[in-house]
Amino acid sequence: MTAARPPRLRVAPSPTGDPHVGTAYMSLFNLGFVRRHGGSFVLRIEDTDRARFQADSEQQIYDTLRWLGLTWDEGPDIGGPYEPYRQSERLDTYQPFVERLIADGHAYHCWCSTERLAEMRDKQRMKKLPTGYDRLCLGKTEEERRALGGATDTPVVRMLIPDDAPLTFLDVIRGEVSAPRPDDQVILKADGFPTYHLAVVVDDHLMGITHVVRGEEWISSTPKHVLLYQWLGFEAPQFAHMPLLRNTDKSKISKRKNPAARLTWFVEQGYLPEALINFLALLGYGQPGEEEIFGFEQFSASFDWSRVNTVGPVFDLKKLDWLNGHYIRALSTEELAERLVAFAQLSQPIDDDAAAALRAATPLVQERMETLALGLQMLQFLIIDDADFAVDEIAAVKQLGDEQQPVVAAALAAVEQLATWDSAAIEAALRTALVDGLGLKPRNAFGPVRVAVTGSTISPPLFESLELLGRERTLVRLRAALT
Ligand code: GLU
Repeated sequence: MTAARPPRLRVAPSPTGDPHVGTAYMSLFNLGFVRRHGGSFVLRIEDTDRARFQADSEQQIYDTLRWLGLTWDEGPDIGGPYEPYRQSERLDTYQPFVERLIADGHAYHCWCSTERLAEMRDKQRMKKLPTGYDRLCLGKTEEERRALGGATDTPVVRMLIPDDAPLTFLDVIRGEVSAPRPDDQVILKADGFPTYHLAVVVDDHLMGITHVVRGEEWISSTPKHVLLYQWLGFEAPQFAHMPLLRNTDKSKISKRKNPAARLTWFVEQGYLPEALINFLALLGYGQPGEEEIFGFEQFSASFDWSRVNTVGPVFDLKKLDWLNGHYIRALSTEELAERLVAFAQLSQPIDDDAAAALRAATPLVQERMETLALGLQMLQFLIIDDADFAVDEIAAVKQLGDEQQPVVAAALAAVEQLATWDSAAIEAALRTALVDGLGLKPRNAFGPVRVAVTGSTISPPLFESLELLGRERTLVRLRAALT
């Protein structure tokens, strides 16, 4: 009996723009298994689709996965025993395999032009036939094929899918899975780059990958991969196809339609990485005790394929907001303050005074913010340049109409005279002037003051806010609201 190899798993994103949330989801499940069983996690960049390639995407993949703490043991940026880990740097590796497949009669050149292929498909559709390559080039020399017209100078190479191709395979999550009969898949493109199908099989084999964990959209490709494994004499890895994340209307999450399909969106919105990890794990996985709140360690410690859901998990951001609020409250106030300052710095320069103001105000918002962005929005009035301060939210402007002018005037008069500037003194003065003096309900009394000094109808507790803003700036804003 041979000893079981330590598991080697990989995530293989394509650098085609802002990384997709699915890359994090796949990485999380790959890594959950790897950390449980003590193996290696490989990051491979699948950049063979040159038409969709985007140069800054690779760095964004690194940055967002690191932000989430989903770190790899081998990859293009850190190297490893199976370098290179970027497919565009491995072109020489694929070529001999293509030649072998052709020599063995498993693959053939195809010179059909794009126009000819489009025409062929149109005809097939018109005749209501299944669309697929009609093998016009099969068995022909270049000369013979040219004689027929519709040929290009730069052939592709296609797999010759046999009639008895196996169409079922074993999936670790789903058991026996069947897939439709594949077309004669292109494996080498006219530009000399392999397609995903060839590159993924060659690289997974050469990199010693034991488990291929990927999205269910690849199920229909797996029979092609199984054939390539057979033809090339490679031992096939185990396959695990994760259910696709779905929008609440059950549609597939796409970057075009849903901003939350982009991983950087979560950073920009001020989600905490630990909340997103918990959310993604919860989407695909049932904890033995059905806990909803758990971190990577707990996830990995209990990791078991049988606990992975196969029904498309719904990407419900309300749940994420709830989790994020939980993790925000679970942080120490000091830690949250640092995260808030770092978050603010992503979008604006923060000087020492502004950073100090944010730190001082963090306790006022910790209980009521669901994301760092909302927390920062509530504290913006403290760090905004006085020259830029404006009340422009419609609901807020309404609070400073003619009717409210006497309220603001009374508030100004009351706080102007204060000897001590702290929240207790401010509260006492405003209550006396507005609630007792003008006979207003607290909401009507403090609403206009809130808007005048914070610019918004939503703010942290008012009296503490004024204390932190300071006497001078408070007076300036109250005066400005009067004119
Ligand atoms: N490059 C493929 C993707 O971006 C990888 C699929 C796989 O894991 O085999 O989805």
